Amino acid sequence: MSQIPARLFSPGLPAAGQDVVLLVEGKTLRILEPSRYLPERGIQLRRVGFDLKGLELAWDDGAGRHALQILDAQAAATLISALPPTLHEALAALALSGRKQRRARRLGWSALALFFATPLLMLGLFLAFADPIAGWIAERIPLEQERKLGEASFTQMKAELQLRDDSEGAQKLRELGQRLTQGSRYNYEFHLADKTEINAFALPGGIIVVHSGLIRATTRPEELAGVLAHEVQHVELRHGLKNIVKQLGLTGLWMFATGDIGSGLAGSAATQLLSLKFSRDAEREADAHGLDSLLRSGIDPRGMPDFFRILADKAGAPPAMLSTHPQSAEREQALRDKLASLPPVPAKPLGWQPWPPAL
Ligand SMILES: [Zn+2]
Repeated sequence: MSQIPARLFSPGLPAAGQDVVLLVEGKTLRILEPSRYLPERGIQLRRVGFDLKGLELAWDDGAGRHALQILDAQAAATLISALPPTLHEALAALALSGRKQRRARRLGWSALALFFATPLLMLGLFLAFADPIAGWIAERIPLEQERKLGEASFTQMKAELQLRDDSEGAQKLRELGQRLTQGSRYNYEFHLADKTEINAFALPGGIIVVHSGLIRATTRPEELAGVLAHEVQHVELRHGLKNIVKQLGLTGLWMFATGDIGSGLAGSAATQLLSLKFSRDAEREADAHGLDSLLRSGIDPRGMPDFFRILADKAGAPPAMLSTHPQSAEREQALRDKLASLPPVPAKPLGWQPWPPAL
């Protein structure tokens, strides 16, 4: 005779059930207090409990449905070994369904784990392949969209730039710019900003701004052409656009991973535009392609490494352009090496006098 602690659910009992003791006496199953016999036939067995090691015996009678649960795994095992033969068939069915139930539950857990792991997995993939993915997306953004993005950003900073687009310096910028952008898919704008820092930058879609301080630092127009050729290539190679796509892509994925959709994207595209920093690779790429475009335009390409020399010599107080990697001296050397490997190209000096022009 076995005494097994159990919980009884019956009509008239509290919804949470009532603790009882189940007695197995030969072929009969009896509950103590309130004392009652379980029917000999019509008992269904079911696995219950978090790990499905408990057992439930359920049956119907005139009063309704009753269930007796034995959640303790040890007690359930004891009961199973003592069950009368009338329940052996139900026991066999239970063994079969138990395996299925456990498998289903395992599948459930795997699916849940995958669900939570997927955003992190995607984040990892994106981090590993951010550049090619951003490049792939950027190439699919229409030119007008790119242009609008650049214009929105330019409008925001316009007042602060103090443009001098009527000056002779601005005229020279446009002249050089036109030569360097022959046959481009973009419509370029070249602007001169009255600012002392040695700086120039390109916005997506073809807006290029050069500071008067940069032109003052040049000793001949070919050096300015070198800077312009570099900036034009940032546009041609869509570096700015790729940067933004990369940033937004990660933000988007991060929001997806954390469920923090609320913080919104408004204004972030413009902000990121303003704080563009190109990667080492992007700078090198713009240098190399810029050099090619100088050669194609018949402008003496040595102006480009010459200007990096000027920047390197000013390294004591790094201007904005210098604060980016790689270092100017390194870039100068890479360009000189490349030029040395090419047959000498005859280029007529621009010979614009006086230099620098009126800014
Ligand atoms: Zn650059």
